Amino acid sequence: MNSIRYFNITWASKYDGPGNRVVVFLQGCNLSCSWCHSPHSQVASSPLLFFPNLCTQCERCAVVCKQGVHHFANGIHSVVHALCVKCGSCIDACPVSSVHKAGALYLPTREVEVTQLFRELEPQLKLLQNNGGITFSGGEPLLQSKALAELARLCKANGYHVAIETSGVVDTLNLEPLLPYVDCWLVGFRLLQGYSNGIVPAMEVVVRRFLETVRHAGGSSIIARIPIIPNVTDSMEYLEQVRLLTKEFYIDTIELLPHNPESNHYYRALGLTPLVTYNKEQSEAAYQNANRIFT
Ligand code: SF4
Ligand code: SF4
Repeated sequence: MNSIRYFNITWASKYDGPGNRVVVFLQGCNLSCSWCHSPHSQVASSPLLFFPNLCTQCERCAVVCKQGVHHFANGIHSVVHALCVKCGSCIDACPVSSVHKAGALYLPTREVEVTQLFRELEPQLKLLQNNGGITFSGGEPLLQSKALAELARLCKANGYHVAIETSGVVDTLNLEPLLPYVDCWLVGFRLLQGYSNGIVPAMEVVVRRFLETVRHAGGSSIIARIPIIPNVTDSMEYLEQVRLLTKEFYIDTIELLPHNPESNHYYRALGLTPLVTYNKEQSEAAYQNANRIFT
């Protein structure tokens, strides 16, 4: 069985490649960027997400959970994520949760056979075929390159435009099975993960090898998608080095991605503190500055 793990599907997006697109977000990532807006995608299978704003405090989850994950005191429902074994019993018992879509409790990761997923996607792909296609994002989709290559092959063979969004910080062994089936690469230039304002040389080496391999194979376009995160990726020196790299590889479609205001949402659902707090003024100033550099 050739199965693939994903945590979300967006059925019509204008922001993830040319035209209007189905976007499949694959589970698992090899990086842990401090500004990641889907931290639940980083591990192989997502932990339990808890959205307290949707909870009615009926306490049914605490009754069915054998692991003692759910606690109620002083009007607060607290969740001990580390104890959860992802059995899903609390989701079945919860009146405002479902295994199919996010509610108060949610285990978003789904593992499905590639041909079955293609059958589920195809009706929408047919609708978008003349002005769009399919984009595989993540997480890091190239970590599942064998299954993804089979899914991309099915899409391509049926006439759908295929794009992949990747960090490019992956071994070329993961990239090569995909090369015949991809029309467009959305490369999320992230040449650091933490708080340094300089490029991490080891990451640049891997991204450079990635870009060389894609350019050498030919037949596909590249769009650079550059995250602009205040105090992390917004220094003049960093952005100038990124700009030179895009120029070296003849990438003339560049999208600057401002810090996502929703980025803290999933940290809280995981019981974690966000690593980088969103600040509207700083985010807009960093974006305007980066825009000047790349214009
Ligand atoms: S998924 Fe299972 S172990 Fe985890 S909190 Fe729910 S009932 Fe408990
Ligand atoms: S079962 Fe659902 S609504 Fe009830 S307390 Fe648990 S999470 Fe909240």
